[in-house]
Amino acid sequence: MAVIGLGRFGQSLALELMDDGVEVLGIDAREDVVQSLDGRLTHVVRADATDEQVLRQLAVPEFGRVVIAIGSDIESSILVASLLRRFAVPTIWAKAVSDAHGLILEQLGVSRVVSPEKDMGRRVAHLVRGTMQDFIEIDADFAMVKTALSPELAGTRLGDSGIRRRYGVTVTSVKHRSGAWQPATQDTVLREGDVLLVTGPVRQAERFSRSAS
Ligand code: ADP
Repeated sequence: MAVIGLGRFGQSLALELMDDGVEVLGIDAREDVVQSLDGRLTHVVRADATDEQVLRQLAVPEFGRVVIAIGSDIESSILVASLLRRFAVPTIWAKAVSDAHGLILEQLGVSRVVSPEKDMGRRVAHLVRGTMQDFIEIDADFAMVKTALSPELAGTRLGDSGIRRRYGVTVTSVKHRSGAWQPATQDTVLREGDVLLVTGPVRQAERFSRSAS
């Protein structure tokens, strides 16, 4: 896998991939960035990724997956995306810093556009209200939420709890106090202090987690 642009986002992505045992070629225009990552990625190269010859010398056209993690320099990000498309790299992920940037990347045919700041802002907006312990939007209007159990549901068998009918959410896993996560079944008995993982439409999941507070 190649990661182009090793700012905060690119670095953390590249290092996590290395931790997972993936070989990573990192490319950045800045010498200090490249030096700080020397020996921590499979290869780290100082280069201007908008230069087609440079990318060819680094064998980037042969990579199956490339992540463009250049954000603030939108022009570079777009030029690199267009080069990678020309090389027919099968899977290209790119970070966008604005909606317009994301739209251009999509129009260029980038496989997946991520907007870490926007996504994290939305996520924190849900968490900061204090009812959910974690929130991941899986799809437009569909979320997975980690939440406490409403005390009124303690002692009920999940199959009899009416949670799906009343709240429109599905409990997928349950963690009893000081226990490990377990898959939820109809026979799971909910206990005071349980933490639940539920999936459902965002508003319903929110309403369910509010019922616990
Ligand atoms: P972050 O917000 O994740 O820190 P930035 O957009 O600030 O992201 O950083 C992107 C990185 O991409 C920087 O380290 C910068 O040096 C690098 N970069 C920008 N343009 C190019 C380019 N044309 N070629 C290679 N690296 C680049």
